Amino acid sequence: MSIVVSKFGGTSMADAQAMIRSSKITIERNASIMVVSATSGTTNELLELIELALTDSWDQTKIKLESLKNKHLSIAEELSASEDTYFELNELTNELDSLIKGINLLKDCSPKAKDRVLSFGERLSSRLCSYALQKVINEKGLDLTAQFFDVRNVMTTDDEYGTARPNFDQIKVHAQNHKEKILTGNIIYVTQGFIGINEDGHTTTLGRGGSDYSAAILAEAFDADLLEIWTDVAGIATTDPRIYQNAKQIEEISFKEASELASFGAKILHPTTLLPCQRSNIPVFVGSSYAPQDNGTWIRKQTENNPLVRGIALKKNQVLLTISTPEMLNAHGFLYQIFEVFNRHKVSVDSITTSEISIALTLDNNQIINRKLVRDLELFSQVKIEQHLSLVSIIGNQINHTPGFTNQLFSTLEDIQIRMICAGASKHNFCFLVKEKDGENAVRKIHEKLLG
Ligand code: ASP
Ligand code: MG
Repeated sequence: MSIVVSKFGGTSMADAQAMIRSSKITIERNASIMVVSATSGTTNELLELIELALTDSWDQTKIKLESLKNKHLSIAEELSASEDTYFELNELTNELDSLIKGINLLKDCSPKAKDRVLSFGERLSSRLCSYALQKVINEKGLDLTAQFFDVRNVMTTDDEYGTARPNFDQIKVHAQNHKEKILTGNIIYVTQGFIGINEDGHTTTLGRGGSDYSAAILAEAFDADLLEIWTDVAGIATTDPRIYQNAKQIEEISFKEASELASFGAKILHPTTLLPCQRSNIPVFVGSSYAPQDNGTWIRKQTENNPLVRGIALKKNQVLLTISTPEMLNAHGFLYQIFEVFNRHKVSVDSITTSEISIALTLDNNQIINRKLVRDLELFSQVKIEQHLSLVSIIGNQINHTPGFTNQLFSTLEDIQIRMICAGASKHNFCFLVKEKDGENAVRKIHEKLLG
């Protein structure tokens, strides 16, 4: 029997209808583990609740707390939930009450307490969703059991509250203890993304948006054959449809290409979250839970087709730093000296080109506020800063080994000034910098020419 892990994000858990729809997908796709996010917006609301508890009266805090509870209770009502489900919900909300009251009284919230509070989003949604799943199973008359599963039985992490790191070896061992049950094929686990547990038994979280990561970790630990990520768009597009409306859905893409797309500005699920699947060679499917029939995107280690151009990403708000020092002619250690400064200031660089005495590199605009970094660079070099730039990246295969590619590319951009070109480091990426006002236009022109 093959093991499929299906992950559903907040919009796929938004209300009773969404939970039913997601449950149907789980059954149709023969998934045995359903990993869910908090209901849409809930994690943010829990953060607001903590903020209120820290700064406002109990009366004000209580209003917010009640509205959060009611949001979940109304889903339970719409599902005509069982007494057991109401009992579980009640237990959870009572615990949340006490925690928030404590925070409000003390006007203090440790990172440990914060993670505990945030865990309620996923703990509530998974209770509701396991009921929804059982309901769909019953309606279909299937011989299956939806089983609520507390992911903290397996998802052990370190103590970094807010950004806990999973202990992969331990998780694997724990998962194996539950695998037999799954392999009977009669059970579907419904479990939480985002949350974990540390060695002391305290609840941790993996970082905002961490449910994709949770699902990938579980897929690896349970030796899954497939991970499905269900969201509100049908997979990954060739470029942002808001920039170019004829953008197409990508049928398949390699992990490496997907990483390049994400790092260079495409707002797709971040492939670092899929690292466990990449290293264990588990294919990932990204689809829309609103339109599961619209084929989504497959992410695989090896794709069947390896087109020259797979997609185009645009990263706005780029800053170009040109660092030069004539004294460095024929000397060594210049790059070392420069990157030592970036390292010291913990600033990450996107792309780089160099000549003998100067180096040009791009940064996200929000980082350049770091005047100290510039001052430290100026101790041994001249620094020129240019702002309002965009990085256009073409993602594909053999991009640096294809004769005529640059010619084809730049002939479409004759009227656009190109400030820097960065190519050669990856056969999957070719990028260049343009003025912000030209960025979207460049993407449209290239898409039209190279992708239609
Ligand atoms: N609920 C968490 C968040 O909103 C995790 C997730 O949705 O992936 O950050
Ligand atoms: Mg999410």
